[in-house]
Amino acid sequence: MLGFMGEFDLIETYFKRPPRHAVLGVGDDCALLAVKSGQQLAISSDMLVEGRHFLPTVNPAYLGHKALAVNLSDLAACGAQPKAFLLSLALPQVVPQWLSEFSKGMWALADAHHCDLIGGDTTRGPLNICITVLGEVPQAMALLRGGAKAGDDIYVSGHLGDARLALEVFRGTLSVPQAVFEAARLRMDKPTPRVELGLALRGLAHSAVDVSDGLLGDLQHILKASGVGAEIDTQQVLSTMACGQRSGLKPEDLLRLTLAGGDDYELVFTAPENQRQAIASASTSSATPVTRIGKITAHPHLSLLDNNGQSLPHSFESFDHFKTP
Ligand code: ADP
Ligand code: MG
Repeated sequence: MLGFMGEFDLIETYFKRPPRHAVLGVGDDCALLAVKSGQQLAISSDMLVEGRHFLPTVNPAYLGHKALAVNLSDLAACGAQPKAFLLSLALPQVVPQWLSEFSKGMWALADAHHCDLIGGDTTRGPLNICITVLGEVPQAMALLRGGAKAGDDIYVSGHLGDARLALEVFRGTLSVPQAVFEAARLRMDKPTPRVELGLALRGLAHSAVDVSDGLLGDLQHILKASGVGAEIDTQQVLSTMACGQRSGLKPEDLLRLTLAGGDDYELVFTAPENQRQAIASASTSSATPVTRIGKITAHPHLSLLDNNGQSLPHSFESFDHFKTP
């Protein structure tokens, strides 16, 4: 509750719109969704906490975008079609300008994916945004972490490392030219969920995960769930970074940013070698760049290879909120 006056006006003004798919949206005790036969509901939730996931100075429109984007990224990783979402919001105070911009950023992305806001909760408290997304995927078609097979190619979508580069510049641990920082910052503030690629990979990819905590850490989820290992071509991984060349940073720094950066919201997926042509078509049809970065191995070990195919020693850990200050 934000006080008797504020809460309902606030929901009505910023968060209520007629739904497109839902039977019933915001305003009653429950929302209602019709579930088509032969489809399964894919459900995921992600929370953004001020000071932990974003800086207090962040542009509220970007924050509205990102809060939904990180959730849509989970649907993308499962090959699910977004349908609806719930928004639970704790706000320290009601600032109309802030709410207006936040909701605009959120609605723009929701509209792009034809996704209904069907409910949520609003309360006073330290700024905290929790979104739950609901998507649809045909029975037994969801992309999961456990399906990778020895001999699969490993791919990553889009760009790795740029978002973490922006964070490190904010923290003062790295410095880059201003134009590079601006480009990297946009990757941190306004990630693109790879929904269309996820849909195009149904029936093609053996396994998939989205990269939120860093490539190696998230790839390990696939390896563990599938009982396999991987050989990663680090030069191919490096090549995905949009700002790498122009940053003037040392190769070790670039490698760390791309392998263990985090906040990328790209998809890592595996597919059998005989699907290379189909993967290229999925990349084209979804207008999403895809890079082949390695192979799944039967031996359950992750090795990083340099451009001569030699093993690199590695101590890259993924971004873990309980380990990283
Ligand atoms: P209840 O008291 O039953 O929990 P609320 O009074 O919290 O219901 O909410 C009233 C309606 O507004 C519900 O339909 C709820 O889902 C919706 N709602 C509340 N907060 C939000 C929000 N931040 N975004 C979208 N819908 C919301
Ligand atoms: Mg309530």
